Amino acid sequence: MLLTITLLTMNTLVVAAAVVVMTLSAFPAMASGADFGPDNPFFAPSSLPFQAPPFDKIKDEDYQPAMEAGMAEERKEVQAIADDPTPPTFENSIVAMEKSGQLLRRVRAAFFAVAGANTNPALQKVRSIEAPKLAAHQDAIYLDAKLFQRVATIYKKRDSLKLDPESLRLVKYYYDEFVHAGANLSDSDKTELKKLNEELATLSNAFSTKLLAATKEAAYVTTDQAALAGLSDAQIKAAAEAAKGRKVEGFVLPLQNTTQQPDLVSLSSRVTRQALFANSWERAERGDANDTRDTIARIAQLRAQKGKLLGYPNFAAWKLEDQMAKTPEAALKFMNALVPPATARAASEAQDIQAVIDGKNGGFKLQPWDWDIYAEQVRKAKYDLDEEQVKPYFELDNVLQNGVFFAANQLYGLTFKERKDFPVYAAGMRVFEVFNADGSSLALFYCDYFKRDNKQGGAWMSNYVDQSKLLGTRPVVVNVANFSMPAPGEPALLTSDDVRTMFHEFGHALHGMFANTEYPSLSGTETARDFVEFPSQFNEHWAAYPAVFQHYAKHYKTGAPMPAELVAKIKRAATFNQGYETTELLAAAELDMMWHTLPASAPIQKPDAFETEALQQTHLALSYVPPRYRSSYFSHIWGSGYAAGYYAYLWTQMLDDDAYQWFEDHGGLTRANGDRFRNMVLSRGNTEDLEKLYVAWRGAQPSIEPMLKYRGLAPGSSSK
Ligand SMILES: [Zn+2]
Repeated sequence: MLLTITLLTMNTLVVAAAVVVMTLSAFPAMASGADFGPDNPFFAPSSLPFQAPPFDKIKDEDYQPAMEAGMAEERKEVQAIADDPTPPTFENSIVAMEKSGQLLRRVRAAFFAVAGANTNPALQKVRSIEAPKLAAHQDAIYLDAKLFQRVATIYKKRDSLKLDPESLRLVKYYYDEFVHAGANLSDSDKTELKKLNEELATLSNAFSTKLLAATKEAAYVTTDQAALAGLSDAQIKAAAEAAKGRKVEGFVLPLQNTTQQPDLVSLSSRVTRQALFANSWERAERGDANDTRDTIARIAQLRAQKGKLLGYPNFAAWKLEDQMAKTPEAALKFMNALVPPATARAASEAQDIQAVIDGKNGGFKLQPWDWDIYAEQVRKAKYDLDEEQVKPYFELDNVLQNGVFFAANQLYGLTFKERKDFPVYAAGMRVFEVFNADGSSLALFYCDYFKRDNKQGGAWMSNYVDQSKLLGTRPVVVNVANFSMPAPGEPALLTSDDVRTMFHEFGHALHGMFANTEYPSLSGTETARDFVEFPSQFNEHWAAYPAVFQHYAKHYKTGAPMPAELVAKIKRAATFNQGYETTELLAAAELDMMWHTLPASAPIQKPDAFETEALQQTHLALSYVPPRYRSSYFSHIWGSGYAAGYYAYLWTQMLDDDAYQWFEDHGGLTRANGDRFRNMVLSRGNTEDLEKLYVAWRGAQPSIEPMLKYRGLAPGSSSK
């Protein structure tokens, strides 16, 4: 029994891997197996090495029968555990649950991977039908009274069972999961909860479907090439290709899922910028079938009711109970402390930008759609740094092999060998086998880096196969991103942001690949939200680390290293725009927390008014810094598992900067440091209380000081 989670970057649109529930007996008998036999590629574990998914054999129509059969099989297995006449033991209950549901696990992992990264109408239909059923299935397990009775019995006598620490942690994990899911509720409240969960799963799926369509439709389209002045020839070529792909005339700039759009940094026409920004800002508020406002207002209301039903003042209080922060108050206190330094820095950045505008007799007041292009000019003026100068040094394969892989080699001794013999679901994907320093095989690493119209936005990592000693499985992980596809014949050149994203997702991949635990439920990235972004954000630090940077930042044509003066400029500019970036992130995170601390008694909200009020209340209503996501397209919180959890990105920034400080204090990029971190943190999954695990490795509680220092937000730290 394992709820596979997909890890998103801050700019990711999400796959709704809905988590759901029903009592076993209440679950309607399903005609399972009718379409499911040995011909179905999910019928038996994959015969490929590592049990890698046989993507070449899987057809769209294989998923649904396999998912139905997988749920039926797991229900049967779990029912047998619940009905076992022998007294409950750790082995016959807890371990038995860990071993259950393997078919469902196989099909879910492959399905949500493909439905997120390479979807089509058939898969979308399967998802809309199966998402609520999966939700109900999960409920059926966690709300089963007999099963809970067994878990509770074991939990109560856990100290007398002489279990090893990981097994003890697993007992507590299951007990908490059951209680968290409502196992202690009365029968009528359980029925109510099931209804809420099913409606929530349906709404969440509806939100994702609407948003994908809304984002596609809100692309900026023009037949007037002059409107695109400022874009490079390659970008214009790509816009023309995008138009061709959609069979429209002219040029198309597809939207990324964040509020700000990458092209806003280059477009010289203010009219075009404003139009593109408006398309982004209003994408899901057009009053048409893809308008998400009613859906999110209803989701917020139902979640508040769910929090109350489970005995909490609001949804966030329930959601944070098993997180490192533990309460919304703790998360808010942390965020509120960041607001003054972040907004003060943003205000000073805005002044610099306004000065550039005025210096050119612009005659207008800085607006969000002006920020990126003028900030770039400030950067050029202040640091003389031009992103276009930098890109030729960031060729994708070079960054991957000589940067990302190289850092992992220096720290952990890993080596990588490309494998062309594993099937993939889309052209351009690559597969690497990963080896330990002693030559033993560790894992498979897949990457799917280029943007496609049928791929959710942003970047993420997920597991095709989870590591578990109990199940005898080794990790198979994937990194997905949306890097711009170069025009035919052109090299794939990354932006600095893309480079950081690649290191970020690979940090998640390391967390998954280093997993070395007995039980799948505690393995790898199966940790709290406000911990899971720590290994990934920590890994970003190595992108700029001199020994790593010098190793990959080489010109794609000549192989020449990046000139020293350009490197020096990048370094000086490192904390550039951090006021803006921290503020937009804070605004989104505070919005999320405000939506999810609404009490059940609150009336249904009008999203626009709610948003305005929430931003004012948290002192984040800055006209020139819009939230990174507006409520109506905040996919993390409505379409995925990050509800009341977006603060986790900031929380884990505190952890990652604090951890990097430890490396700095202990000699930086060394095998000794890497191995210690692997052994004490990255391999441990959720086998120990995460705060204790962190403190044991760090030797102290995490501090906010390194975060303020590395981001240039500390009082008195200058932007140089
Ligand atoms: Zn991440």
